[in-house]
Amino acid sequence: MPYTAPVEDFKFTLDHVVGLDQVRATERFAEATQDVCDAILTEAGRLCDQVMAPLNRGCDLHPARLENGVVRTSPGFAEAYRAIADGGWVGISAGADHGGMGLPFALSVAINDMMSGACLALQLCPLLTQGQIEALETHASDALKDLYLPKLISGEWTGTMNLTEPQAGSDVGALASKAEDNGDGTFAISGQKIFISWGDHDVAENVCHLVLARLPDGAPGTKGLSLFLVPKFIPDDAGKPGVANTLGVVSLEHKLGLHGSPTAVMQYDRATGWLVGASHGGIAAMFTMMNNARVSVGAQGVGCAEGAYQHALAYALERKQGRTPTGHDTIVDHADVRRMLACMKADVFAARAIELACAVAIDMQNATGSADWTARAAFLTPIAKAFGTDTGISVGRDGVQVHGGMGVIEETGAAQFCRDVRVTAIYEGTNGIQAMDLVARKLMDGGDAAYRLLEEIQDEAEHARAHLPELAGAVWEASESLRETTEWLVAEPDLNERFAGAVPYLRAFARVLGGHYHLRAALADPAGGRKALAAVYIRRLLPEHASLLQEARAGAADLYALSLDELGA
Ligand SMILES: Cc1cc2nc3c(=O)[nH]c(=O)nc-3n(C[C@H](O)[C@H](O)[C@H](O)COP(=O)(O)OP(=O)(O)OC[C@H]3O[C@@H](n4cnc5c(N)ncnc54)[C@H](O)[C@@H]3O)c2cc1C
Repeated sequence: MPYTAPVEDFKFTLDHVVGLDQVRATERFAEATQDVCDAILTEAGRLCDQVMAPLNRGCDLHPARLENGVVRTSPGFAEAYRAIADGGWVGISAGADHGGMGLPFALSVAINDMMSGACLALQLCPLLTQGQIEALETHASDALKDLYLPKLISGEWTGTMNLTEPQAGSDVGALASKAEDNGDGTFAISGQKIFISWGDHDVAENVCHLVLARLPDGAPGTKGLSLFLVPKFIPDDAGKPGVANTLGVVSLEHKLGLHGSPTAVMQYDRATGWLVGASHGGIAAMFTMMNNARVSVGAQGVGCAEGAYQHALAYALERKQGRTPTGHDTIVDHADVRRMLACMKADVFAARAIELACAVAIDMQNATGSADWTARAAFLTPIAKAFGTDTGISVGRDGVQVHGGMGVIEETGAAQFCRDVRVTAIYEGTNGIQAMDLVARKLMDGGDAAYRLLEEIQDEAEHARAHLPELAGAVWEASESLRETTEWLVAEPDLNERFAGAVPYLRAFARVLGGHYHLRAALADPAGGRKALAAVYIRRLLPEHASLLQEARAGAADLYALSLDELGA
């Protein structure tokens, strides 16, 4: 079943739901006119449909493999990666100073979403490079920028992110990799990193690793970490890949899914690296990369959900089984199958709107430097990451269900979406960690950012009552309950009480945001099908917020009252 990038949906959502026009109105993004954006989305859609999607099944069957210490990628990946690089897609929102297109991040996120629906395993490679570009643009010395950025932006070289070690996953501060000053402007990096996506490959001529390590005088924990750029091949005087650095791939992981993406155990043996940012300032610098990547990982989830939905719909339109009340015999006319498809589509729209709204907030932050936009971007980032990836998982699961028995038969491709997308809720900070970030750091402003968002939702719902009273009323009521729970959280001094309800709170916030964006879409498209889709979302999916909010306020006592003995330990 071929994948078709939903280009028109992106155009509609960017233009009518998340307000890309505000971004265009800034001086920084004045060149991102509607015509330019539309042309770029159309062209990216073509690349997804014609070049990337045809490789998706093959990379699942023929994973990346390690041969004599070198990673060989899945068939067709090298050519497809070249098409991505040559099309300028890696550097779409990178600065023009070093060869980027300087376009809004929202456009880059939309394209990442499309590419993920086409072939998630391949898309992860440019995604990581984009994060690295932003980290270098923000924190690296001019010399490093001049040498590396043009290569990364053009896609000639790729980037990775190296945080994880066996004892240091969510707790990054526990990492043990070391760095020593060589006294000549370089550092010697030693240690082992695990789970490094695209840690090595044969699709580009150099791989640039951003590695977190500790200098001898680095304090314990995250505060003592520094960030280093450690290339696979050290650039020679002409800036070309020169001698091999003392690093390598120990092994590749065998995973549930995402087989086309090489996940490497990396060994660094006094490898030559260059400091990025200040010594002991590594975590802040790495967070630049991670914040960017978190939104894009959310988009990965949404892209996979789109792919799973398209597969399920195509199957439901073909598969004949039984007689439906409407007198048809294809399963798409059975009420339960229709329910699954409608809810899948409604959730894809909601998650995509949240992801793009977050990207627009980041663009506005970058273009205006406004504190309000900065707070909005920070608040939406964990929601976009967690809800986007959870939607990928739930829509993937329902996609299998729509297929019936054929859903677990690999040839249909339905199962692959489930397997591939599963890790997106885990990497770039698990969704549990995202939720804790939301209820702790993101409410440290006393709830200001949350309340401003809720006010906007309620004002618009109030206005919408004249046109869509039932739907607008439901969104208003839901946002009011959410406001009350937000007040409860802000007033709760015990962080563990908040953490016990963090995941349901994040999901409830996403549910309400989804209702808000559906309502906007319905108002913007009174004659189209958006109102019917909004009605499905608001009647069937939004009500989940109530039970989620109840759980969000349940506190931690009952969880710890259930002893480890009672858990069966
Ligand atoms: C396919 C794949 C690709 C990856 N790519 C990269 C990469 O390119 N670069 C890189 O550096 N890493 C990468 N990772 C690592 C990934 O980021 C980590 O797996 C992730 O951060 C979780 O760490 P962990 O696996 O050690 O789980 P743990 O941290 O052990 O977490 C286990 C469980 O405990 C929970 N938990 C942990 N700490 C807390 C806490 N304080 N409070 C509440 N709950 C907590 C988690 O949410 C989770 O549910 C990748 C992983 C995979 C599987």
